[in-house]
Order: sequence, then structure tokens, then C-alpha cells
Amino acid sequence: MTESQNAPLDVSFEVFPAKNDLARAGLKRCVDMLARLNPRFFSVTYGANGSDRLRTAHAINDLRKVRATLPFAGHLTCAGGTREQTLDVAREYEAAGAKWIVALRGDGDAGAGGAFVSTLGGFLSAPELIASLREKTRLRIAVAGYPEPHPDSRGLGADIEHLKRKVDAGADTIVTQFFFDNDDFYRYIDRVRAAGIDAPVVPGIMPIRNFDKMRAFAKKCGASIPARLATRFEKAEARGMAKELALAVCAGQCDELREQGVRAFHFYTLNDPTLTLGTCQALGLDPVNPVDGGESTTAKVEIDQARRA
Ligand code: FAD
Repeated sequence: MTESQNAPLDVSFEVFPAKNDLARAGLKRCVDMLARLNPRFFSVTYGANGSDRLRTAHAINDLRKVRATLPFAGHLTCAGGTREQTLDVAREYEAAGAKWIVALRGDGDAGAGGAFVSTLGGFLSAPELIASLREKTRLRIAVAGYPEPHPDSRGLGADIEHLKRKVDAGADTIVTQFFFDNDDFYRYIDRVRAAGIDAPVVPGIMPIRNFDKMRAFAKKCGASIPARLATRFEKAEARGMAKELALAVCAGQCDELREQGVRAFHFYTLNDPTLTLGTCQALGLDPVNPVDGGESTTAKVEIDQARRA
């Protein structure tokens, strides 16, 4: 076992702003349960076309009322706002107490898979947004990476060249799009490091709550689903065992990544804590109960854990 294999695990959780009181209660419950794992941060997504620009900041404000010490990241895209309007959103995140931002180019009005259209007077690209955030805010900056090429890219090489531009512009860390075949991630890390990018790369992990919805979403995002998973979920659903399979698949994927030296995981929770919590426990993380509101103990280690041992 290498030294890195003894290092504590570092987790972060993505949630999205809730649209009504019932969903808000569910989101708070989700955050409350996952807070017990002392995450590096909860990241709160941003509307696909930049609509309702302050919704994310409001959600962060609301969630920090649950526990003022919870760490947050706000997502922000270049879509639907002028440069100043977009930077104002980042300032709102700072005012709400967020320490991180996930800086993105974004998609068009149709959401994932919709072509990005810049706004008059708006940021034209993620590197441009990142450079401005670096200059004008104190937020730490995470950016997206794509183990399987992004639908807009001319291939993995072009994707990685573009990633380098984002890191050179000031990104601190890279969080990946979800993937289901770990070999895609290992290949990606090798290419990222070969390109001279040293920033930590944190794998994005998507627990499969509903296989059909996941398949449709993955297609828009350019993420492939191994055929073996489709067959297994088909059988499990017929037997009412899809949730059990989802937990086994997610825990198995993370466990294999950990075996290869990965020490940080970013979970796409879709505001449901169950599979994420189960996976984290399978990885050996102990939920603390109750949360004392103190600083994270597991989240202190700076990570570059995506490298294979
Ligand atoms: P970029 O990395 O800037 O561009 C995407 C790809 O296009 C690049 O990989 C590259 O191949 C190509 N490209 C772009 N510009 C150039 C160029 N100048 N030259 C060559 N190639 C170029 N969307 C939301 O609306 N809200 C969210 O909250 C949100 N959160 C996300 C969080 C994560 C972790 C991830 C992975 C995605 C998220 N998305 C979100 C989706 C994201 O907005 C889309 O994937 C979008 O299409 C790309 O944004 P980006 O910042 O990754 O773009």
C-alpha cells in the first residue's frame, strides 16, 4: 500500500436549487445528511441559460441558515448575462459565504447538449470568465473536465488543450463530468498530466437513481454507458432491485478508483442523499452525528488524487 492510499478521503456533493417548499425541505434534508461526512463543499448548480441569476445565491443563503459553517460552491456560467451581471452573481456567492465557484461556459437555452450562444456584452468562454473571477473575487475556482470528449469538442486532444487554457486562466481544481467506465478516467488523467496540467482532478460520480432517465441525460452530455450496465439494470428493475444494484455499482466504481489511488470524489446527488451516503459509507467514511458545525477534519488534505498509484 502506498502512502497516498492511507490518506483520508475528500468528498464534495452537487445539489440543485429547489423550486418549491416541498423540494426545499428535501434539499435541506439531503444537505443535512451529507454534511455529516464533512465534505469539502456542497456545490449548487446554476440555471442552464442563466435564467433567474440569483437563484443559486439564494439557495446558498437558505442552506447556510441550516448551519452557518457549511462550506459552499456556487456554479456560474457565461450564459444569459453581461460580464458585469455575471460577476455580480459571483459577488453574491461571496456575500453568501461561499468560498468556491464552479466556473463554466454553459450551454444554450435547451440545457445539456444545447449549443452555447454568447450574450451581447457577456463572457465568450470559460477561460475568459475564469480570468475575470481570479482578478475580481477571492473565490477558489473549480472547472469542468471531460474524460469522454465534450460533445462540442474536436476530440480528447482538443478538449485537453482547452482544459489547459482554463487552468492557465486561474482554475484551482478540475471536477469531471460523470463517467461509468473507470478506464476513461485513467486515460484522461494520463493525457492531462502529459499536457503539463498539475491541478487536482476530482472524478464526478453519478449514482444511478433511474436508469432510463440517466441514459437520456448521459447521451446529451456525451457520457457513455457500458452495455453491461444496461443489461444489469434491465434485470434488476424487473425484480424491483434497481436501488440495490445502483448502490453496488456506485460503490464498486468508487472502490476501484480508490484502489488506483483516487482520494477525492465529487458526487452528483440530484438532491437525494441515499445512494451517495451509502457509497461513502461503503468507502469507509463515517457519518458524524450530530454535526458539531466545526471545520471539516477530512477535508483538509489538498488533493491530487486522481493519479494512479
Ligand atoms: P468549456 O470547457 O469551456 O467548453 C466545452 C468544450 O467545448 C471544451 O471541452 C472544448 O472541447 C470545446 N471548446 C470550447 N471553447 C473552445 C475553444 N475556444 N477552442 C476549442 N475548443 C473549445 N451547466 C449549467 O448550465 N449549470 C451548471 O451548474 C453546470 N454545472 C456543471 C458542473 C460540472 C462539474 C460539469 C462537468 C458540467 C456542468 N454543467 C453545468 C454543464 C456545462 O455547462 C456544459 O458541459 C457546457 O457545455 C460546457 O461548459 P464548460 O465550462 O465545461 O465549457
